[in-house]
Amino acid sequence: MNNHEYDPSGEFTLTGISGSPGICIGKAYLVDREGVDVIEKYFVGQHEVNTEINRFKSAVKHARDELSAIIEDIPEELRENTYILETHLLLHKDKMLYDRTMEIIKKDQVNAEWALKRATALAVNMFKQISDPYLGARAADIEHVSDRIMRQLTGIRDVNISNIDKRVILVATHLTPAETSQIQLNRIMGFVTDRGGKASHTSIVARALDIPSVLGLETATSVIKNDDVIIVDGNKGTVIVNPSEETLIDYSDLRRRYALHRADIVRTGDLPAESTDGLVFRVMGNIELPEEIVGVRDNGGEGIGLFRTEFLYIARTNFPEEQELFEQYRETVELMAPHPVTIRTLDINGDKEIPSMPTPEEVNPALGLRAIRFCLRKPDIFTTQLRAILRAAAHGTIRLLLPMISGCEEISESIRLLDKAAESLEKEGIEYNRDIEIGIMIEVPSAAILADAMAEMVDFFSIGTNDLVQYTLALDRANPHVAHLYSPLHPAVIRLIRHIVDSAREKNKPTYICGEMAADPINLPVILGLGIEELSMAPQSIPEIKNMIRRISVADTGRLMVDVLKKNTVSEIHELIKNRFGDILYSDIYAS
Ligand code: PEP
Ligand code: MG
Repeated sequence: MNNHEYDPSGEFTLTGISGSPGICIGKAYLVDREGVDVIEKYFVGQHEVNTEINRFKSAVKHARDELSAIIEDIPEELRENTYILETHLLLHKDKMLYDRTMEIIKKDQVNAEWALKRATALAVNMFKQISDPYLGARAADIEHVSDRIMRQLTGIRDVNISNIDKRVILVATHLTPAETSQIQLNRIMGFVTDRGGKASHTSIVARALDIPSVLGLETATSVIKNDDVIIVDGNKGTVIVNPSEETLIDYSDLRRRYALHRADIVRTGDLPAESTDGLVFRVMGNIELPEEIVGVRDNGGEGIGLFRTEFLYIARTNFPEEQELFEQYRETVELMAPHPVTIRTLDINGDKEIPSMPTPEEVNPALGLRAIRFCLRKPDIFTTQLRAILRAAAHGTIRLLLPMISGCEEISESIRLLDKAAESLEKEGIEYNRDIEIGIMIEVPSAAILADAMAEMVDFFSIGTNDLVQYTLALDRANPHVAHLYSPLHPAVIRLIRHIVDSAREKNKPTYICGEMAADPINLPVILGLGIEELSMAPQSIPEIKNMIRRISVADTGRLMVDVLKKNTVSEIHELIKNRFGDILYSDIYAS
């Protein structure tokens, strides 16, 4: 999915996937780490050995100075987390890395980069063979240190997003969700990447930050140069490089119109989402960190439908303690009162690794030890979180949500651990509330198929369409090469959702939706027509969706579904929706 249109003025357009909406115009800032992986070996000869050794020594010195400066800059209150970096500082001179690299340069008469790569591989392999998890984790430390030295040797800049001090647009091969969440809004206007897809966690974080982004461009880092002027159109998923005077004027105007359109919609955010035939829907926000609650409130969100708690674990090197989690959750429920907060238990791995738990090597992490599977294998980590949730539930309305459920045993085992956590709190005389609703994410086809049995075990379902589409259609949600096939309007997905909602309804249980499907206006008639009762999405999308619900008749969406369910292709379903609801779904700023 890529497209370059060249223009004689030097302007050209790249087409990718819209990561988050909005338009920004600014200078490109390239961040690239990929070069570190492509290290060439060459022989230097006896006479150059000393030069290589000196190059290596000087790279180590600079890498250490750089790291010391980073440690210095860490604010006092975060100092307790710097011990890992202090360890890295020592590792720069570790025998296995430092001495061995120099030995290899001397013995093999090779360039410093190659010798460092070799020494690193040997050290990492040695650590990986040790079964002790603490020593095993040292392999990752060695890799970090080696990367830092390698960047000095090769001159490739680090992706240290928090250090960027100009107003720029980031251009990167790939940004992890953790890197994206370090973006400082007063500096970075938007970002574009070669990799990633619409439902990737990187784009979810971008939407939460409310900055435009385009992903899956494939060649952005090769064709865009530092300081090129670029226009990022996150609505369309395009990037215009070196725009002509005329394009700049057009886009400045478009950016203004888009800002006005957003302001109009946001003004009505607090009005209830009541359809033209009188049904009221609760529209809630998805958050990754408690700080985002402000965004939910400002955009008229009526609670948190999905709190992705793993982000509290991502940007750090140790697991949070129960007290810290409790305080975060309590703050969240108190800020959101009287509305409910749906706390999803840890959903790590897949595309969200956490530094405190180096992941086992998995060929298919999306099918691996992710989410509830990880928690049930690590009951201590899970119980710490469950205890914190139960304690916070004494301070406001909490719903508990279990991710990636694929079998009934996972539900009963989780409830058993929850009861055990409540018992231990009771014994210790700590305040808690066990009287909370328990729901499961339906995001794996097996859970959808077993929805009737699962509905008996829980209080509600929340459909995670990002994963449900991925697993139903066998499409990696972050892979740009298959992004054109990824659609929640696929007839198989729609039929599966119908089965989920109907099964829950038979047991008098409600079904909610919290995947990205809920935030895209084109899907709204289907969501309402299928009987979903509550929607949760990135806070910035709430006003637009509430506004649309106010213009839709649910009876009409029911009629639409009769026809949708007879269609067998995405394009036919798309057409049907556009024909019946097109006039209310689009306020086309591009047409004016
Ligand atoms: C989903 O899968 O739709 C979902 C909401 O969870 P996440 O995006 O965090 O995987
Ligand atoms: Mg999911």
